[in-house]
Amino acid sequence: MTALTISLERMLADIEALGRVGVDPRGGLSRLGISPQEQLAHEWFKQQASQVGMTLRGDAAANLYARREGSEPGLAPLMAGSHLDTVPNGGKYDGAAGVVIALEMARTIRDFGVRLRHPFEVIVFRAEEPSPFGMSTFGSRVLAGRLRPEELDAVDSKGRSLRDALRTIGGDPEELEGARMSAGDVAAYLEVHNEQGPHLERAGLPLAVVTEIAGIKRGRWRVIGEPNHSGSTSMDERRDALMAASEIALELERLARSYDGAVGTIGVLTVEPNAVNIVPGCVDLRWEIRSCFVRDLQELEDAFEHAAHAILERRGLRLEELTRSNSVPVAADRAVLEAFEEACAARNLTAPRLRSMAGHDASHMAAFTRIGMLFIRSTGGKSHVPEEHSPPESLAVAATIMLDALMRLDRDLD
Ligand SMILES: [Zn+2]
Repeated sequence: MTALTISLERMLADIEALGRVGVDPRGGLSRLGISPQEQLAHEWFKQQASQVGMTLRGDAAANLYARREGSEPGLAPLMAGSHLDTVPNGGKYDGAAGVVIALEMARTIRDFGVRLRHPFEVIVFRAEEPSPFGMSTFGSRVLAGRLRPEELDAVDSKGRSLRDALRTIGGDPEELEGARMSAGDVAAYLEVHNEQGPHLERAGLPLAVVTEIAGIKRGRWRVIGEPNHSGSTSMDERRDALMAASEIALELERLARSYDGAVGTIGVLTVEPNAVNIVPGCVDLRWEIRSCFVRDLQELEDAFEHAAHAILERRGLRLEELTRSNSVPVAADRAVLEAFEEACAARNLTAPRLRSMAGHDASHMAAFTRIGMLFIRSTGGKSHVPEEHSPPESLAVAATIMLDALMRLDRDLD
């Protein structure tokens, strides 16, 4: 295998350059999905990619692709990338690290005159984080055909629709179907992401190979009881929506603990009428469960639902279901996983296997192509905060392993 050497200095310069785009007065970065700040980061990427001599194109979801042709006609591209949007007041590494590494792969391929059989494409997904329009992984969901048409009518806090906002950044809401990809369109998709957790730092290691990405089930329920005077309604006469919701929440905690590696969260509770002297009549409750195992996820959802209904029945309350969503757990492709692990072994690197409990664009790419991810170390296990950081060594090692794995896949895949 050719000894290709990546440049850490270039990557650090890129991280710094992106760290000046969308600076938030609170000290971090705010490049929300489908905002002018995200667009500036995309413009920065376009400049960099054209300097590498890559051909740029956008799609109807305003995802960006930079392409270098391969030597063998008819082969689908090998892709690497991530996203350039951030959470509000987020950090410099979530998403950006993956894009910078993919860009560095392209530069190294150019510098060393490597001719791959497959085309190589760097993809920058649009709006991976929850956008002001209330959804995450927008760009990759469009590629997987998973964006429901009515979701385009979602509005931000200023009342502007996603449909209109998409037009202002070069997308075309009427043509999203044309951006959809299917089996055979991409040979494989590789992504580096910061771990957003403490495992690698604890282990003193620079990177990990991701084996699975968790599936996520979410629901929004309205627990309906009866509001009444908090003084004159005796404890036996109450139909208290908050107490029922509390019991439901504790039951979710108990159930999630009983499945290895599963997590359950009630992230939102809205109490009505929310007054000190009124028994709560209604609670709007949002729950979420995650697991890397399809069966656990389903069992957990069924058990939770069953328990919630039993609690409400016993207390004489009822439930109205407002929304329900579901994303399936995804496993890394065997060939990609092997390419990563062989590349690590060849360089005497220890890379543990980790599961991703966070969602990523790769989950949706898995609907039509082979996927694989590497995690790089997160200093202090922190992410989605201004001080988010990954050690330079992690960036360098990940870029090297990505490039080695790319060469292997270029050789082995059709
Ligand atoms: Zn991310």
